Amino acid sequence: MKQYDALAMFSGGLDSILAAKTIIEQGLSVLGLHFVSPFFGHPDKVAHWSETYGLDIETVDVGDEFVALLASRPPHGVGKCLNPCVDCKILMLRRCKELMPVYGAKMILTGEVKGQRPMSQRRDALDVISRQAGVRDVLLRPLSALNMKPSPAEIDGLVDREKLHNFNGRTRKPQFALAKRLGITEYPQPAGGCKLTILDSAKRYVPLFEHADPPRAADFHLANVGRQFWAGPHWLAMGRNQEDNAALAELAQAGDILLDVKDHPSPFGLIRPLPGADWSRAALEDAAALLASYSPKAVAAAGSRNGPIIVLATRGGETTELEVTPERASRLGLAELDWESCLPAKRAMFGEGDQDDGY
Ligand code: SF4
Repeated sequence: MKQYDALAMFSGGLDSILAAKTIIEQGLSVLGLHFVSPFFGHPDKVAHWSETYGLDIETVDVGDEFVALLASRPPHGVGKCLNPCVDCKILMLRRCKELMPVYGAKMILTGEVKGQRPMSQRRDALDVISRQAGVRDVLLRPLSALNMKPSPAEIDGLVDREKLHNFNGRTRKPQFALAKRLGITEYPQPAGGCKLTILDSAKRYVPLFEHADPPRAADFHLANVGRQFWAGPHWLAMGRNQEDNAALAELAQAGDILLDVKDHPSPFGLIRPLPGADWSRAALEDAAALLASYSPKAVAAAGSRNGPIIVLATRGGETTELEVTPERASRLGLAELDWESCLPAKRAMFGEGDQDDGY
């Protein structure tokens, strides 16, 4: 295994790039760790970033750990959506520390800037994060180091404190100036990308925390795809286009039920049975009728009395034919949820969400 002086938490955002580059400029070797889960991360961009920024980067999947953290109610709370920023950073830093001996690394770098985020980058939150993650002896925040007490890496002379930075607060001007000096011209906008901070994504996750026991990362990958219909614990995912249909086919697991309209182009449907959901034949026909209502050809054929619409329901290699009339109004009550309808459950499970991190 190639050895490095430092492991850097690398989101692909500008601050993480600058933190890593600041230490590389001092002649040290840095490995970027890019964390991925159903909620954040772009593993498909790692090769591009590696080439663009001249940085070795490894992808670290923390999906199941992250879902378990959310399911057990994050001790430091969540933001206005479902983002548990303080506990998220503790989790990632702990994983970095576990990986240090693998790469022979002597320190961990983050792109955190004191005061930039109200929830996770306040002075006291930064202290809590480093203490609870157990990384106080190895953590270096190169962008705000001069606003903090010298870290062990500075005291031991591993890095030159004089060449670290004193960035502070929400302004981005110092970052842009440093990027210019380092010749970095390509970087994403700040704060993009974590689906837990976006209402339209978070509404897909709340019912899973209510009904899946236990919820797993694979469930949230499915929740990210297409249209999501819920009626209590009954869950139906439906493609909106070919890309969604391909994703659904790829995400299907043993025990799932795949729905497809016979003889007419249609979206795929994927039912993942959860505890308490009774997928009787009548319930399957209800979901199948809803699916067929999203196939204009099936709707037209049903209207012109060209014979019954057949939906194929496949589970474990066995296919059943369901004869249905396309119908948007589900007897089960299958419907797409909006954030407002998710709020009572979100509040009951995660609290008010006063840990707003400004996203
Ligand atoms: S927004 Fe918060 S929860 Fe999402 S990745 Fe960033 S720190 Fe983690």
